[in-house]
Amino acid sequence: MAIFDKFQHLAATRQALADSGIDSIHVVMDNIVSPTEAVANGRNMILAGTNNYLGLTFDPMCIDAACDAARAEGTGTTGSRVANGSYSGHVELERELADFFGFRGVIVFSTGYVANLGMLSTLTNPGDVLLIDSDCHASIYDGCRLSGADIIRFRHNNVDDLEKRLRRLGERSANTLIVVEGIYSMLGDRAPLADIVDLKRRYGAYLLVDEAHSLGVLGDRGRGCAEEAGVIEDVDFIVGTFSKSLGAIGGYCASNHPELDLMRYASRPYVFTASPSPSIVASTRAALKILCSRPDLRSRLWQNAQRLYQRLQELGFVLGPEPSPIVAVRLESKEQALALWLGLLDRGVYVNLVLPPATPDGGCLLRCSVSAGHSREQIDTICEAFESFQSWEQTAQIA
Ligand code: PMP
Repeated sequence: MAIFDKFQHLAATRQALADSGIDSIHVVMDNIVSPTEAVANGRNMILAGTNNYLGLTFDPMCIDAACDAARAEGTGTTGSRVANGSYSGHVELERELADFFGFRGVIVFSTGYVANLGMLSTLTNPGDVLLIDSDCHASIYDGCRLSGADIIRFRHNNVDDLEKRLRRLGERSANTLIVVEGIYSMLGDRAPLADIVDLKRRYGAYLLVDEAHSLGVLGDRGRGCAEEAGVIEDVDFIVGTFSKSLGAIGGYCASNHPELDLMRYASRPYVFTASPSPSIVASTRAALKILCSRPDLRSRLWQNAQRLYQRLQELGFVLGPEPSPIVAVRLESKEQALALWLGLLDRGVYVNLVLPPATPDGGCLLRCSVSAGHSREQIDTICEAFESFQSWEQTAQIA
């Protein structure tokens, strides 16, 4: 049993949660009704924690494209592109993404997690430096670890702290990759990209931006935070995922550096895993077309985001620093978070329960994510559910 000893504390925590009726993995979605509704554990739920920002998971064009591709090319590629070759859809998707970003090249990976793992571990090696925002996603941390480079964290969104660390690095700044996110996944705040780009230029470093939560969400053409900040050409590598605004699964890296293509031979998380299946590639391509041709979805998303943020703020909840499609409700204790999460489920609203160590500052969060697919009425229902727990005495009673 020795190798399992280390899991004992986890088993105890899980059991304590299960005893209080909480286990988010075991909330079974019996029936997914639409991008924003499901029947879960036998009751109707509004889904407010999906990252389905544009609500495209049920789009008929995406579904038809996926079905046609599966019929024409089969259900899976059954191997890596290095071993089995590329399907024409992989190549076309990469070209379409490169055109969309206005970048020279794109590599498609099997997930967003793998995109970060593949890029970070290959771009930097022992002797190089990774300067990462302390709130970065686990996939960034894991990719950094795999690289063997020196990892230095700077304080979240703190440009002065970043500059201090770049200054200290001296000549090593030329071997430094700065890593940030566009919109941060937990609190929904944005990176100050114009300032970060200014620093990376002055110190001769490189910059990778993970736009997982900002693709389709920010920028005139939906290209993300770098587009919104007017610095897209200055970003060395944009990484992202197909699993949020594009409603599928997969990841990518876009870059103007011609060396990007060499990653296909050097990046183990690219070489040694199966490439995305034809249906995924086809639905992603259809979703990208919709993202480009339907700016109204972005406007709708932001109307919903502003409405939820404003209403919850008026109700006195402590939220993330700025309105965004990720609305994080901060809670004082694990007990409060658990009680509120269960109470919302009971009222037919599903949000993400996020407890330490997954939270940025060790706090507890209920993380809502808003979709263009939410109706105004659904947003109001979510707000009303929160409103019924406005007073913590009430929340304590259901704990
Ligand atoms: N980067 C960020 C910032 C994320 O939030 C996530 C997923 N939540 C990923 C990467 C990984 O994406 P995927 O789920 O597509 O693997």
